[in-house]
Amino acid sequence: MSATCLFCQIASGDIPATVVAENNLCMAFRDIGPQAPTHILVIPRKHYQSLNEMGDPQLAAALFQMAREVANAENIDDTGYRVVINTGREGGQSVDHLHLHVLGGRAMKWPPG
Ligand code: 5GP
Ligand code: ZN
Repeated sequence: MSATCLFCQIASGDIPATVVAENNLCMAFRDIGPQAPTHILVIPRKHYQSLNEMGDPQLAAALFQMAREVANAENIDDTGYRVVINTGREGGQSVDHLHLHVLGGRAMKWPPG
């Protein structure tokens, strides 16, 4: 837990968010600036700055499992969706607490910008 980290504060409930799934390891909530009809962030409860710092395979599995469950609950699993982990400066990461973006509800473009 980092007292100054936005997503740690969401994880602890100090900052409100629209939570759509949670368990003992991770949680999922709606992005405040959605880039698609469905845009949900999946985060570990424990603070990791980015994917570079997160070497726990059990947690990695839990994060991907929650991304799958969220996609299913949002009814975008059959039509398709995208899971993105922006990492570091050139990866476009703006919040330094590891998070998976789950984006869907529209056709995605490739390559990403
Ligand atoms: P990044 O750019 O680090 O990959 O993604 C950070 C995401 O966090 C952005 O999509 C941004 O809209 C979202 N975000 C930033 N601040 C907040 C907030 O206070 N609440 C929620 N729910 N999302 C946030
Ligand atoms: Zn954090």
